[in-house]
Amino acid sequence: MSDPAVVHNAALHELAPGVHAWIQPDGSWFINNAGAICGTDGVVLVDTCTTASRTSAFLSAVAEATDGAPITAVVNTHVHPDHTFGNCLLPKSTVVIGHPDTRAGLLGPTYLDTPPSFWSPPLPLDGLVARPPTVTCQGGLTLHTGEHTVEVHHPGYPAHTSGDLFTWLPRERILFAGDLVFDGITPLALAGSLSGARRALSLLRTFEPEIVVPGHGPVLTGAVAIRRCFNLLDGYLAHVLALADDGIRTGRPALDMAADLDATYESWLDSERIVLNLHRAYAEQNAPGFTFDRDTAFADAMRLVGGPIPCCV
Ligand SMILES: [Zn+2]
Repeated sequence: MSDPAVVHNAALHELAPGVHAWIQPDGSWFINNAGAICGTDGVVLVDTCTTASRTSAFLSAVAEATDGAPITAVVNTHVHPDHTFGNCLLPKSTVVIGHPDTRAGLLGPTYLDTPPSFWSPPLPLDGLVARPPTVTCQGGLTLHTGEHTVEVHHPGYPAHTSGDLFTWLPRERILFAGDLVFDGITPLALAGSLSGARRALSLLRTFEPEIVVPGHGPVLTGAVAIRRCFNLLDGYLAHVLALADDGIRTGRPALDMAADLDATYESWLDSERIVLNLHRAYAEQNAPGFTFDRDTAFADAMRLVGGPIPCCV
């Protein structure tokens, strides 16, 4: 039997003693990063993965790195399937922590009830059931395991989604950013807010992290790499807001405006997200006569790529 971790080319990286990041290349649709913080009181995870096989590979790697230490808690950074659908594979005794909106979202209906038709091939969701958080966190909370302090924060406003949580390890100065940060992959604010996503980046900068684990993409190490990534993301979000302004002023729909995406961002993975982000920006800027609808936004994304969006989860 092949090793799923090898098949997926994912790997667990020890960022500091007991602090691990599960990095899954290439970080495109549904291929997320996760984390594991191991101390004498057990393991705290940051997120699970989309599919049963990807989550099993993650959990096997964590068990090997931590000598099978018990997983006491998982922090879901937000509701999306790539960060939560693997929750059901954790032991029953693991406490699942998330924002109230993550709990509400996983109470359903989810893609497990109604598989989406936006991606091709269809998402392999066999063997999964939704497992919502049983502890909700709206402001913040702090977990402790051995010498590790694990702070969980909500920005206080919608950004990637309405229920983002990020995890900050003050002693190690490591930030697990969830999907408030992407590196080399187009950020997405369809379910949140572009201006909120910009504010969240400013907030994350104030922590002065030395290492950032993005929700998707490689680990960022050092102030220069972090600043570079955050500046690029902020530039993209500002560009989308400016395109939306222009589209609203000239009466052009989101799909038309997507063609004006700056070439700087065309090389990022999942660049079709431009049209999804424009739909959110039109809603955010109260475009006259525009009603936000997720399925309509995805229909535009499929028009942009000429069919269902390729996905290799
Ligand atoms: Zn994600």
